[in-house]
Amino acid sequence: MKAKKLWMWLLAATAAATIIGLPCYLKYRKVSLRNECLNNLRQIDGPTTCCVPLANRLAVGDKMDPKVVAQYIKGNTIPRCPCGPEYEYSWIVGSPPPKCPYHGALLETNTVLDWASASHSSEAPPRNSAPK
Ligand SMILES: [Zn+2]
Repeated sequence: MKAKKLWMWLLAATAAATIIGLPCYLKYRKVSLRNECLNNLRQIDGPTTCCVPLANRLAVGDKMDPKVVAQYIKGNTIPRCPCGPEYEYSWIVGSPPPKCPYHGALLETNTVLDWASASHSSEAPPRNSAPK
């Protein structure tokens, strides 16, 4: 009888911890996936703005081969968004940076991150504040 009561308390405590912790975990997972996507966009943006045009003597408006771009990325493949969709990119030198249909473009994603962090604090810390 005592063991059954203890078992019920343990079950209730586990259920409560799950209910409290699940939204936190889902939020963490959402931020984690967005950051992974952001990192993938940076991996594509780096070689397409610098290495590939310089190494292949491409001018603005020339078409890049995604296979050549993939050579500059770890794993030798064009990464995909961890949420599934392929990135939208024209593979033309000088075109806007690659964009995720789910998370947005690189600059848009940075802006969203800045706004997200700014919304948590009511006021920005003073610039010349000494550490305490
Ligand atoms: Zn994405």
